[in-house]
Amino acid sequence: MPSMYHQVLIVGGGLAALRAAIEAKDAGLGVAVFTRVHPVRSHSVAAQGGVNGALANAEKGADDTIEKHAFDTVKGSDFLADQPAAITMTADAPKRIIEMEHWGCPFSRTSDGKIAQRPFGGAGYPRTCYAADKTGHALLHTMYEQAVKRNIKVYEEWTVLSLVVENGVCRGVIALDLRDGDIHPIGADAVIFGTGGTGRVYGRSTNSIIVTGSGMAIAYQAGVPLKDLEFIQFHPTSLFGNNVLITEAARGEGGYLRNVNGDRFMEKYAPKAMELGPRDIVARSIQTEINEGRGFPGGYVALDLTHLGAQKILERLPAIRDISINFVGIDPIEKPIPIQPGQHYTMGGIDTDVDGATTLKGFYAAGECACVSVHGANRLGGNSLLETIVFGQRAGAHASQYVKGNGRGRPSEDLLFDKLHEVRGRWERLRAADGPEDPAAIRDEMKATMIEKVGIFRDAQKMTDAVETVKRLQDRYQKVHVNYRGRRFNLDLLRTFELGMKLQLAEVIARGALDRKESRGSHARTDYKDRDDANWLKHTMAHHTPGGPRFDYKPVEITKWQPEARRY
Ligand SMILES: Cc1cc2nc3c(=O)[nH]c(=O)nc-3n(C[C@H](O)[C@H](O)[C@H](O)COP(=O)(O)OP(=O)(O)OC[C@H]3O[C@@H](n4cnc5c(N)ncnc54)[C@H](O)[C@@H]3O)c2cc1C
Repeated sequence: MPSMYHQVLIVGGGLAALRAAIEAKDAGLGVAVFTRVHPVRSHSVAAQGGVNGALANAEKGADDTIEKHAFDTVKGSDFLADQPAAITMTADAPKRIIEMEHWGCPFSRTSDGKIAQRPFGGAGYPRTCYAADKTGHALLHTMYEQAVKRNIKVYEEWTVLSLVVENGVCRGVIALDLRDGDIHPIGADAVIFGTGGTGRVYGRSTNSIIVTGSGMAIAYQAGVPLKDLEFIQFHPTSLFGNNVLITEAARGEGGYLRNVNGDRFMEKYAPKAMELGPRDIVARSIQTEINEGRGFPGGYVALDLTHLGAQKILERLPAIRDISINFVGIDPIEKPIPIQPGQHYTMGGIDTDVDGATTLKGFYAAGECACVSVHGANRLGGNSLLETIVFGQRAGAHASQYVKGNGRGRPSEDLLFDKLHEVRGRWERLRAADGPEDPAAIRDEMKATMIEKVGIFRDAQKMTDAVETVKRLQDRYQKVHVNYRGRRFNLDLLRTFELGMKLQLAEVIARGALDRKESRGSHARTDYKDRDDANWLKHTMAHHTPGGPRFDYKPVEITKWQPEARRY
C-alpha cells in the first residue's frame, strides 16, 4: 500500500492542535489531524476556571492593560519566562479570545453583555474570561465546530509513535491505527504537535490518563531539545483522595483555605494576595500546614465556599459542586471541600520560538507540549488555555508560510518505509515480550517516586534517589511482558510502549531538577532555599543521547523587567 501524504499534518485534537489546523486550512493548504482520542475528549475539555486576556471588562479591572498582564506573567514565572514571548502572548490575547467569542463560545457575561472576567491567582486584575467553571468544554467544542465547518480531515484513534526525519528536515510521522493495530507511514511538508503535557509521569495528578507526554518524548528522540522540564506545577486544590481538580475559580469567587484549627492560614504566607497568591506559593503553604500537623487527619486542608451562598455556587461553580457531591459526598453549599495539592501542569516542553518553530526544520509545537517560554518556573492560572489559542494560531500560520516557501511534496517511499520498519520492529518486539516484569508495577513505582521525591519540596538526597530509581525502572522495563497480544484496540500494548517514553521524561525531569541548585517558582529545594540569579537565571536544555539526557543551558531573554523579589 502506498503511503499517505498531507501538506500540514497536525498531531492532537486539543485546543492548540485544532487552532493550528484551522489556520493552515484557511491558508489554503491540505491539512489532516491525527489524534489518539476524539478531539472533544482531549484534556483541554476538562479545563475549568478560564482564559486570561486584558479585556478590562470587569468593574474592578477597567484599567487593566496588556503590559500589566505581561508583567504579572513574568513575575509569576519567577523571571524565567522569556519576556518578548510573554509580551507576544498577552498582546495576542484579546484578539484570540474575541475570535472565540465570534465563533460562538458561550462565555459567561457581565450585566452589560460583555465577556465576564474573574480574579485569578497572581494577577493584579480580574482578567480571567470564563464559561461558568466549564471553560475548556465551551472553548473546545467551539473550536471543534470550526474544524468541522472547514471539513478538516480528522483521523481519530490514531497515535503517532515517531517522527520521520531526512537530513535535518521533518518529513512526516509513523502512526498506529488503534482500530486494527496497523502501523502506517504518513508523509508531510510540515508537522505540528499539539500533544499536551506529561502529567501522568506523576502520581496524584489532575490530568486525564491520556496525558502521557508521548509528543515530548517523540520530539526528544528525534533530536529536538526539551526545555525547563524540571518545572512541574502542583495545583493547590485537588480533591483529597483522587485528585480531581477543584478550580482556582473557587478561590477567585471568594473561597477560603482553612487548616484544622479553622484559620485562614494564607495570611502567614501571602498577606496581601491571600488565597489568590500564585500557585507555587499557595501549594507550598498548604503542604507546609499539612507537614507541620495543622492539616486534617490523613493530610488535607479545607476549601470553604459555604459563605458564598447557594446562588453564587450554583451559577458560577456548578461543576465543582457536582464533582464534590459525586466524588466525596460533600455539597460545598453546606460543608467545606477536603483538598490537597496535586500535579497539574508541565511548564517545560519542546523548545520552540514564538511561532512554534523548533530546531528541526518543518517541525512545530504549540500548547502544553511546547515551551516557548511564557510560563518560566511557574504558570499563572488561565494562561495555559491562552497559550493554546495564541501559539496554536501562530504555529499554524508559520508552518503554512514554511510549506508555501519550502514545500518539498511527497517524501520518498524508501525514507518512509525504512522508518516504518524500524518502528514496527520495536512495536512487534514489545508485542511478543514475555519477560518477568509487570509494566503496571513499573508505572506505579515511577509515579510514586516522582510525586514523593521530585514533588513540591525537593532536596539532593530525595532527587538522587529518584534518578537512581528511574534508572532501575528503565532496566526493568527492558524485561517487561505484555498481558494482551491482540491487534485491535490494544491499549495495554500502547500504554506499555509509552511507559518507555515516560521513563525517559521522568529521567529528564529528575536530573534537570537535581542539577538546578536553587529555588525558583515551582522548583522549591529545602537545601537551596533562595533564587540564584547569578548562576541559574537560564533555561535547562535536555538533549537525547542513548545513555540518557545531556544538559546545557540557554540564556533567558530579559528585555523589559529586571528580576526582583516576588512578594504577594
Ligand atoms: C483538570 C484541568 C483543568 C484545567 N483548567 C485550566 C483553566 O481553567 N485555565 C487554563 O488556562 N488552563 C487550564 N488547564 C490547563 C489546560 O487545560 C491545558 O494546558 C491545555 O488545555 C492543553 O491543551 P493542548 O491543546 O496543548 O493539549 P490537550 O488538550 O491535552 O490535547 C492533546 C491532544 O494530543 C493528542 N495526542 C497526544 N499524544 C498523541 C500522539 N502521540 N499521537 C496522536 N495524538 C496524540 C490527544 O489525543 C489530544 O487530542 C487545566 C488542566 C487540567 C488538567
